Parts: sequence; structure tokens; C-alpha cells
Amino acid sequence: MVSEPESRSPKHSLLFDERSCLEQCTSCVDVCPSIERTKDTIIINRQTLDEAQIIALQNVCPTQALSVCGEEAKEGILIDTLMKDKPFYDQSGGGVTFSGGEPLMQSNLVTSIATELHRQGVNTAIETCMHVPWKNVEQTAPHIDCWLADLKHTNEQKFLEWTQGSLKRIKANFQKLAPIAKRIVIRVPVVPGFNDTEAELADIIDFAASLESCNEIHLLPYHTLGINKYRLLDMPYLCADKPLNNPELLEYAQQHAKQYSHMNVIVRG
Ligand code: SF4
Repeated sequence: MVSEPESRSPKHSLLFDERSCLEQCTSCVDVCPSIERTKDTIIINRQTLDEAQIIALQNVCPTQALSVCGEEAKEGILIDTLMKDKPFYDQSGGGVTFSGGEPLMQSNLVTSIATELHRQGVNTAIETCMHVPWKNVEQTAPHIDCWLADLKHTNEQKFLEWTQGSLKRIKANFQKLAPIAKRIVIRVPVVPGFNDTEAELADIIDFAASLESCNEIHLLPYHTLGINKYRLLDMPYLCADKPLNNPELLEYAQQHAKQYSHMNVIVRG
């Protein structure tokens, strides 16, 4: 249900855009036993493709038809890179946002970097789906100024059917985080057939309003910008092929939130 499928895995991903593949080129086939050349294109056997093979394909393709997504970086280098923008953070009041994939899959690293950023006077935010062990959230919480956290549904069964995840875990994390977080912004991707009814959005807003450090919800109308990434990764795209077009629903959600004086609902493009 996310539009960045290449960042789901903690490992490298291999993207292939057939349109840029050169006839008669064998550069990738020569270094990777999981790739086969046919007359018109190449075939990637993703069942046998492993991490070492993907890394060996970095910078091999002359046209970027094949590209490797993901990069390893040492903590010190990351901090040095981030601190180069300190004048911009100071001028704009901004800071650093940890994103992904799921940054809390690497909570030790995030905690360490965020601690150092705070020490150097930089604000921190994190984008998370909250589907992680509580200890990862708890460890990071003191070092994060703003949580941009997803809440996609409030019905356990429907959430499980669409995401194979545990809503119980997510809600428990929100409830434990709320008393200790500085600020939580809840983000709701509004997806046709999943949570695009008035009742479903109302339930999400009611839950958000019950969290003491949350006073803002961002509604993110479903879009299809990620479809091409699925094609490049040879992954099935299971969601609707048209963007959400329901301004009345988004207006309803904003009206519903008005019963809570501390809540603000913002529709993001
Ligand atoms: S290296 Fe690039 S251009 Fe050459 S066969 Fe592989 S994908 Fe095609």
C-alpha cells in the first residue's frame, strides 16, 4: 500500500526498465548468473537473485536500464553530511526527517544519529508506520521532536486483510507513545475500497483525538504515482489504478474533526 516498494526491504533492490535495455548487450548477464539474455530483452530470475549478485550489478548497466537501489553509509559520514545543511535548518526552523522504508527497523542507528543532531541543535522528525516492537519506539522517542505516523484503519480485521499487519500493535504503540511524545501528526492514506468511507475516517479521527500529543491529521488521497516502481521491480500492483477523487469525503472528515477543538485536519496533495 505504499508507493515506494523499493524501500521496503532492508537490503538492496534491483530495478529493471526494459525500455532502456540495449539489444545485444550482455554486461549484466556476464556478471550475474540469475540474469538470462533473450533476443529482445533480459529475464531476471528473482528467486535466485541474492544480495551479492545485486551488489555486483552496481554501475554495470550502460543505460541505467538496470539500477541498484539502496546504499550503505557509516553513521559518522551521515552526520557530517546532514550537518552541512545546518545553516538551512537554522534559517528555516526545519531539521532532519528520518524516513524509509521503515526507519524504526534500525532504531539503534536512528537513536544515535538523532541524539547527536539534538546535541548540535537540530530538530528531528520521523516517518513511521508504527508496526514495530514498542522497545524500538520507546528508545527513539526522547530524541524525536515530531512523529509523522501512519494510521490506516481502526478495524483489526480489515487492516489484517489489506496489510497482513497487526493493528493491535500499532494502536498500542500510539497509546504508549502519546504521553511521552512531543508531537504526533497522524497520516492517513485514503485508499479506495479500504478506508474511503465517512465511518472509517471518522473512527480514525476519533482515535487520533484521544491521543494527548496529537493535534494534527494529514489526509493523503490515494494516488498511482508508484505504479511504475512496481513494474520496475516486477512486483504485482494490487491497488486501484485510479487516484481517489472524492472531495466530499475529505470535506466530511474536516467537518467531523471540528468537534475536537484541538484537532486540525489537513488534506495533502
Ligand atoms: S546491462 Fe543494461 S543494457 Fe545491458 S543487457 Fe543488461 S539491462 Fe540491458
